[in-house]
Amino acid sequence: MMIIGPLLAISLVASNSATIHADQQVAGANLSIEIRQPINAEKAEELIAWIRSAANNVNLAYGRFPNPAPRIVVIPSRIGSWTSNSPVLYGRVTRRRTETVELFINAQRPIEDFYADWTATHEFSHLMLPLLKQRHRWISEGFASYYQNVLMSRAGHYAPEDAWRRLSEGFERGRKSRPGLSPNDAAAGGIRYARMKVYWSGAAIALLADIELRQRSGGGESLDTVLGQLQACCLPSRQRWTGRRLFQKLDSFIASPVFMPLYEKYADAPRFPDMQATLADLGVTITPRGVTLDDGQSLSAVRRAID
Ligand SMILES: [Zn+2]
Repeated sequence: MMIIGPLLAISLVASNSATIHADQQVAGANLSIEIRQPINAEKAEELIAWIRSAANNVNLAYGRFPNPAPRIVVIPSRIGSWTSNSPVLYGRVTRRRTETVELFINAQRPIEDFYADWTATHEFSHLMLPLLKQRHRWISEGFASYYQNVLMSRAGHYAPEDAWRRLSEGFERGRKSRPGLSPNDAAAGGIRYARMKVYWSGAAIALLADIELRQRSGGGESLDTVLGQLQACCLPSRQRWTGRRLFQKLDSFIASPVFMPLYEKYADAPRFPDMQATLADLGVTITPRGVTLDDGQSLSAVRRAID
């Protein structure tokens, strides 16, 4: 074992020439991190601290990481092999005996760029839900897309205005994407050009659920608290859930249902929720000159609690 970086006290274990291992503790979890080569020791140390920080972003939902023992693999990509300009080129979650988050990165980018990137927060947010059937994938992609924005704001990596602009622009992309398809149909396998519908219809429904929970409980309940209860009872899960089973389970934690009514209204309906009206009630105004947040609207207090 070689100890590098006494200030951070991160121990890097070069178990073989192709991987550096490091365990990191965050609330609720031991992160088993693997840094694939070639990445030098100094950069590896920076990346490990960044992974820990991104895990702590997700802990801003309900105070602990959703999986107590996840495996996180950072894989450097060859320069020129990707077209994306992001430091994290691609991320994915695989679920077998353990849940693994793989992050494919451009190791040439400065570490500051990684902290400003949403991909790790999005992938870690996936762990707040169980694996869903293909047709109900809009729920997992949508909830992760919602949380990547609100958690990056809560952690201070986005200004709240920026988070709401990104959500608003996403809802608009979702509204324009495959307007004839319902979320369930858009998420079914083999549907082309439906990606924005899949991601942003689910994010819209996450925001609608969060607003209703916070509003009716005076802030005592939220999407955060309900997902915390889901984690306590049921995660990590080895099963592949249906959207109905998930939403019925979420409703079982609260006095009267919020999730199944949204499912019945939107999951098989082509129309996109009216998010412009919702954003206006939240006090979010988008103009070509930028975003303004207004504290005088009916849901302004809910917005401040979310971001
Ligand atoms: Zn995703």
